[in-house]
Amino acid sequence: MSVVGPVPRPTTFADANASYGDAEFVLLGVPFDRTTSFRPGARFGPDAIRQHSWNFESHDLETGVDLSEVPIHDLGNTEEFGNAEEMVRSVREELRPIYRDGKVPIVLGGDHACAPPSVEAYPDGAPSLGVLYLDAHLDFRSSYLGDPRSHACSSRRMLEKVGPRNIVVLGVRSVSREEIDDNKTVGMSYVSAHEIAKDGIQAALHQALNMLKTERLYISLDIDAIDPAYAAGTGTPEPFGLTPRDVKFVIDQAAPRLAGIDIMEVSPHYDQGATSLLAARLAREAVVRIVASRRSR
Ligand code: MN
Ligand code: MN
Repeated sequence: MSVVGPVPRPTTFADANASYGDAEFVLLGVPFDRTTSFRPGARFGPDAIRQHSWNFESHDLETGVDLSEVPIHDLGNTEEFGNAEEMVRSVREELRPIYRDGKVPIVLGGDHACAPPSVEAYPDGAPSLGVLYLDAHLDFRSSYLGDPRSHACSSRRMLEKVGPRNIVVLGVRSVSREEIDDNKTVGMSYVSAHEIAKDGIQAALHQALNMLKTERLYISLDIDAIDPAYAAGTGTPEPFGLTPRDVKFVIDQAAPRLAGIDIMEVSPHYDQGATSLLAARLAREAVVRIVASRRSR
């Protein structure tokens, strides 16, 4: 166990004791934040999340799953890159064998530009894939500051892989007029944070899952989906967000169909560790819930 605050040297994710060959879950860190638009630092996210993962007990109270008995492998971080295009290529190459070997990837960013290659690596011909995209922002620009691989374009890049009917954005509360106009022709579905506050996360997720008829689901979690009261350690914080419990609910409900998850935009130097801690806990939540759903089959 460690306390929140000054943290030790980079380490592996807690309970990630398995070899790659034995693992059912594979972690990958992508310490890349060159497309950040407001304040940088998400490159430090993966290691901060790992460090804070040591805070938690291996045993999960709700499911009874013990993470020390779950085969998890931590691949470490990708190398640092010059530009987003190189990063994308490299993440895709890392992810392809993970899906091919029937394992569940857990990708820790990095800015949100690091997420689309995890979806793009999903094998063609595998069971159909839908994306639950949790974000304060729509990330729907076709290009931003001349870069189609900017973190402001990530939902759009994923949509190009899975199709406009197979992605739903949850928690949106900051969009440009151009994104809204653009989306009139594309028709990507989203449920705003305001609707979720009014009607509840259950109603929102029900609506989202009614649209995503795919066999498998992928969760892309931009940590700024969560209110800055809980997750201030991020590059573009936006008030009126989801609660940690809202996001936990989404993960829990999606778990039986979950093919992979990423947690992006944790920028650990903007708070005292709460955001890294929350991200680590949500990654662990995904693992225990997937294991629990497999056991109940
Ligand atoms: Mn984002
Ligand atoms: Mn965002």
